[in-house]
Amino acid sequence: MNIIVFFQEYLRSAIRRPSQFLKKYPSRLCTICGYEGRFLDVGPRPEARCPNCSSKERDRIMGLYLRRNGLDLSDKAVLHFSPERPFFRLWRRNPRYVAGDVKISKVANAVVDITDIQFDDGHFDYLICHHILEHVAEDAKGIDECLRVLKPGGSALFSVPLDQERAETWEPPPDMPAAEVERICGWDHVRLYGRDFPDKLSKAGFSISEITFTQEEGERHRLTEKHGLALQGLDRIFVGTVPVEAGDSQPSGLSPSADASAGIPSNSARGKALVLD
Ligand SMILES: [Zn+2]
Repeated sequence: MNIIVFFQEYLRSAIRRPSQFLKKYPSRLCTICGYEGRFLDVGPRPEARCPNCSSKERDRIMGLYLRRNGLDLSDKAVLHFSPERPFFRLWRRNPRYVAGDVKISKVANAVVDITDIQFDDGHFDYLICHHILEHVAEDAKGIDECLRVLKPGGSALFSVPLDQERAETWEPPPDMPAAEVERICGWDHVRLYGRDFPDKLSKAGFSISEITFTQEEGERHRLTEKHGLALQGLDRIFVGTVPVEAGDSQPSGLSPSADASAGIPSNSARGKALVLD
């Protein structure tokens, strides 16, 4: 158990939302750190956070994917934009892990502009880009850059706030004032993505699949956001793989494997093995 994180998360949660402790919550299992027990509320999202590693719903979907496919990124060349804290803690000692942000940050080790990435073609095995592109004016350029810096056979994980009701992405007219764009799209967002988001990735050259999970997995690992009684705002994560051309050498150890027990370290808070699937 990570005592310091656990204490900080409980304290923060108790101050912000003390009423949550009057409710009885079921035991959940974190796909990243293996903690099993009560999760904590974050704002309006009950049971959103794992108290042992600070993971939230989206992080645990990614954790499920990595574990399912036996992917261990702790020694791979990884580019991770605006890293989520649980993964930054896991991988920061990997000398090939580039945790990039647009400015210097405690949870980053490099300044990286997604539209002009300062690495050679085919440098990375893996790339993680969650909730970044909605802030980027030239998102197509950003997607092209992600494709360029990945090795053939390498993969990128993408997610954006995606409006399921919208077939096509809405781009604001060029003369619309920034304040109005922000009012419509949300803080610092420059567009509203629709269901065509994965098409944008495939048009750039990625081969696309989506991380899916069962309702049971959703409940067990708390992968969805619950507002009131309804499950909403399900974060969809798309996996974009760079096609391998004849003559290309593939990065090693990145092909999804059926061995779900390999890879991500498990430090279950109660000493129980982390068992998924
Ligand atoms: Zn955790």
